[in-house]
Amino acid sequence: MAVDFAQSEDQRILISEVRRFAEERIRPGAAERDREHRFPAELLGEMGEMGLLGMLIGEEWGGGGTDPQTYCLAVEEISAACPSIGVTMSVTNSVCGWPIDRFASPELKARVLPTLASGEALGGFCLTEPGSGSDAGAMKTTARRDGDAWVIDGEKAWITNAGVGRWFVLLARTDPAAGKRGISAFVVPADAPGLRVGAPEEKLGLRASNTAAVYLDGARIPAANLLGEEGQGLRIALATLDHSRLGIAAQSVGIHRRALELATAYAKERIQFGVPIAEHQAIRFKLATMATELAAARALTGYAASISEHGRDAGRLACEAKAYASEAANRACWEALQIHGGNGCSEEYEIARLYRDVRVTTIYEGTSEMQRLVIARALLAA
Ligand SMILES: Cc1cc2nc3c(=O)[nH]c(=O)nc-3n(C[C@H](O)[C@H](O)[C@H](O)COP(=O)(O)OP(=O)(O)OC[C@H]3O[C@@H](n4cnc5c(N)ncnc54)[C@H](O)[C@@H]3O)c2cc1C
Repeated sequence: MAVDFAQSEDQRILISEVRRFAEERIRPGAAERDREHRFPAELLGEMGEMGLLGMLIGEEWGGGGTDPQTYCLAVEEISAACPSIGVTMSVTNSVCGWPIDRFASPELKARVLPTLASGEALGGFCLTEPGSGSDAGAMKTTARRDGDAWVIDGEKAWITNAGVGRWFVLLARTDPAAGKRGISAFVVPADAPGLRVGAPEEKLGLRASNTAAVYLDGARIPAANLLGEEGQGLRIALATLDHSRLGIAAQSVGIHRRALELATAYAKERIQFGVPIAEHQAIRFKLATMATELAAARALTGYAASISEHGRDAGRLACEAKAYASEAANRACWEALQIHGGNGCSEEYEIARLYRDVRVTTIYEGTSEMQRLVIARALLAA
């Protein structure tokens, strides 16, 4: 299938606006926020006003109704300036707004989507548990019907936006005897009685994003907050991840791009053996490989995004894009830090933060190993 990578006029205007915002408002405080582990609520407010937090929500609910390719370009821009804000943006758009827009009843959409689309509220996605990560079907959290409510018990781990979000898409077992078909999806408000958020995780990277456990102790939510139908939860979660992985691929592309910019600038400045280190062929080859892999990662992400709404192979391609882009970004940050020599190990240099921030991209929203399992399964079934 041919894909048009040329940006439309509308895309160009939007992306140059996002890039200006990212460079003027987001990048300048990124190091300080990382040092202080500070979630930048004020910047998220500005992003909400710009429509960056409801891009995948339909226009009838106040969202942007943005196509996935344009959305990926916007995530790339924000992530190149601050990967922590990149993941906050990606999660609220892709794993909260998107599935609610797709699977909720009109009444539930009307209650939730306008608040997400305007940026008034952030969202999260509660799938992982202490005992179930890659094997999501092994979750233990339960939801039982009690009159006009669902009552949820369990614990979710590593939830992005847990401490700052107002709405969570949450997966729980509604029929323990039905295995993977006994899991349902819910929209859970953060202020549901019986819901408690743990202390923020002390993370290796993405320290200006919020990640915490969510504890559910008889948490009560309205019966109408069921997403889709009972028993469809795992299907909804997997469809959501098939789509949302594009956002993580785009986040990886943004980090990769920034690592290359930093390495190129440093290689031109740093003098060793009487010449800028960029004059040494070993350094040139590193830069060339980083640039080539960046182009490949961006093209694969753009291609996967372009067919994400309709292609039969959309899920597999999103896995390929996510696995490739995240691993290429990790290689790029490793090489960019190498080019910085000892200075790369100093927090004075931005590459040190990127090196920490990039690490999780091969892990969350499905590890590289799980991406390969999905890709191989699709190949072998063909
Ligand atoms: C910063 C951060 C933010 C996160 N945000 C969220 C969030 O918002 N919502 C959410 O639900 N979760 C979130 N997560 C959790 C994340 O999605 C999981 O960590 C991830 O899915 C992996 O699960 P796990 O950590 O339990 O690893 P495990 O599943 O225990 O895997 C450990 C290792 O074993 C490998 N492995 C497991 N099974 C197989 C297999 N069958 N074949 C080969 N290898 C295998 C894995 O690839 C991995 O290398 C976040 C995690 C982090 C670190």
